[in-house]
Amino acid sequence: MTYLFGPVPSRRLGRSLGVDLIPRKTCPYDCIYCEVGPTTRKTLRRRDYHTEAIIRELTEYLRGPKAALDYLTLAGSGEPTLNLGLARIIQATKGLTETPVAVLTNGALLHLPEVRRDLAAADVILPSLDAATEKTWRRINRPLPEQSLAQLLEGLVALRREYQGQIWLEIMILKGLNDTEKELSALKRTIKPLALDKVQLNTAVRPGVKASARPLDPEEMQAVADFFGEGAEVIASSPRPANAETAVSDARFIEMLARRPMTAADVAEVLGLPLDLVQKRLKHLCKTGAISYSRYQDQGFYRQ
Ligand code: SF4
Repeated sequence: MTYLFGPVPSRRLGRSLGVDLIPRKTCPYDCIYCEVGPTTRKTLRRRDYHTEAIIRELTEYLRGPKAALDYLTLAGSGEPTLNLGLARIIQATKGLTETPVAVLTNGALLHLPEVRRDLAAADVILPSLDAATEKTWRRINRPLPEQSLAQLLEGLVALRREYQGQIWLEIMILKGLNDTEKELSALKRTIKPLALDKVQLNTAVRPGVKASARPLDPEEMQAVADFFGEGAEVIASSPRPANAETAVSDARFIEMLARRPMTAADVAEVLGLPLDLVQKRLKHLCKTGAISYSRYQDQGFYRQ
C-alpha cells in the first residue's frame, strides 16, 4: 500500500486506517515535537497530490476483505489540507464505506473558506492549537514568517461557526514551554468560546525533532486536564487490542515504522502478535539495517 497505512492503534481514534494525503514532509509548520521528522517542504501552497491514485487505493482496500475499523483517518506525512483533492477524497470515501471519516489538521489553512468547504463532509475534524501566545506558538510550531496566531484562531472560530460535525482539539503540552500558568490560562481563555466537542491533551510520548520537546509525566498531565476542566481529557496511551494476524512480512513491519517511531509493544498491539515474537523480528530487522533503534524518555523506539 502506498497511501494507506494500518490499521494502527490511535490514541484518539481507536483502530484507525490512515490515509496519507501528503508527501513527506510537506507542511507549513516545523513543530519541534513532530514525529515524522524535520519539514523539508515548508509551504502554504495547496496542490493536487496523487488524488486519483489515493482514491484508487482506497477503493481497492474498501472493496476487499478488511479488518473492522473505528475511523478512516485522513492524515499524512505533513498537513493534509494542502491536498487540493481533499474534498474529492472525502466524498469518494463516504461513497465506499460507512466508517466515519476523521481529518487531522494543524489548522493553518482553516482561515480559507475553500478549505473549510472541503472539510464539510468529514465526521470529525481534529485540529491542533499548542499555544495562545504568539511567541510560544512560534517556538513550538515554527510556522512560516507570514503566518500568524491570529489567523489560526480566526480559522478555528470560522470552522466552529460553519461546521456541523465534531471538533476535537489537540493540545500538545510540553515541559517548560506551554505548561506554565500563564500559557495554560491563555489557552483556556482562547478555546472557551470555540465550544469544542473535546479537548485532548497530548504530550511528547515519542521522539520528536528537537530535544526541547519534553513530555510531562502522567500526574502533571492530569493536573493540566483538571485545570482545563470539563471536556478536557488526557489522551490514553493504550488503545483497544487488535485482532491477531498470523503472517506478517518484514515489509509490513518496515512500512509501519516508516510512518512513525513505535515501541515493540505498539507494534505487537497493531499486528496482534505476541510481544516476544515481535521483539525477535524487530531485533533481526535492526541487524539487517532495515530499521533502527533508539531510546527516548526511558522507552525504546524502532523506526525506519
Ligand atoms: S503540523 Fe504535524 S506534520 Fe506538520 S510539523 Fe507539526 S506535527 Fe509535523
